[in-house]
Amino acid sequence: MFEISELSVIAAQMETSLKGKVIAQGSLGNSPHKFVWYNRSHEEFAELCQGKRIGNARLMGRWLGLDFEPRYRMIFGEMGGKIILHPKGEAIPKRYHLLLQFEDGMALTVVIGMWGALELYKQGDELSRAYIKGMATTPLDPGFSQDYFLDLVAGITAKGKRSVKSLLTQEQTIPGLGNAVAQDIMFRSGLNPRRNLQELGKLELERLYHSILSVVREIKDLGGRYDETDLFGKPGGYIRLMDSKRKECPTCSAAIQTMQYLGGACYFCPVCQS
Ligand SMILES: [Zn+2]
Repeated sequence: MFEISELSVIAAQMETSLKGKVIAQGSLGNSPHKFVWYNRSHEEFAELCQGKRIGNARLMGRWLGLDFEPRYRMIFGEMGGKIILHPKGEAIPKRYHLLLQFEDGMALTVVIGMWGALELYKQGDELSRAYIKGMATTPLDPGFSQDYFLDLVAGITAKGKRSVKSLLTQEQTIPGLGNAVAQDIMFRSGLNPRRNLQELGKLELERLYHSILSVVREIKDLGGRYDETDLFGKPGGYIRLMDSKRKECPTCSAAIQTMQYLGGACYFCPVCQS
């Protein structure tokens, strides 16, 4: 699944490589998929796309908006898979869930893995959509300061018990993060996924804050995680610290443990993370 860092790489690449291109033809794909969310019929989408010019790309957590000028905005949301720009003449995938063919002969395809939203809105209407509406500050926003983070956690712990993994991955409390980046953030901050936020001291909270920022920025700077690809099909350069391939802790060599917790596997070091 794309998380905020990969989408920020793709958004920047869209700005440099897609902006200004005119759509000759758009299609919502040739391969039905139960978990691709569309908000337009095939006919409507094709009609609305035709002749539109690609404008700005904007990042909203795990949601990416791409302007179709005038007046429309394509949304790529909560998705896993591939968003690829194909040079003129390059073969496109046999099965795809979105295809934009540009007047200059280039093409953009989207192939969705498990799930994702591919929706076209009048600019501004996407802000009423569930998950985009009222989105909180993301770790790549300038407002994600240490004070903001400490206030956020104080507000949560005043209401009741919540774990570190829940803070990082549930309810878009910190939009843009997913299971993959959460593993490395918890490892770098030395916290067990089940650890109750109410028990964390100021130093632990500060370490958690800095781990969020450093992991998210490092993944972005390295062009995404190694198991995701960018707009040109190139894998990212960030090697995950904690995933299914990791057998030993990179710090203390203890055997990595796995547990199912809050919608997905957690990989953690029983020694370094408490
Ligand atoms: Zn360890």
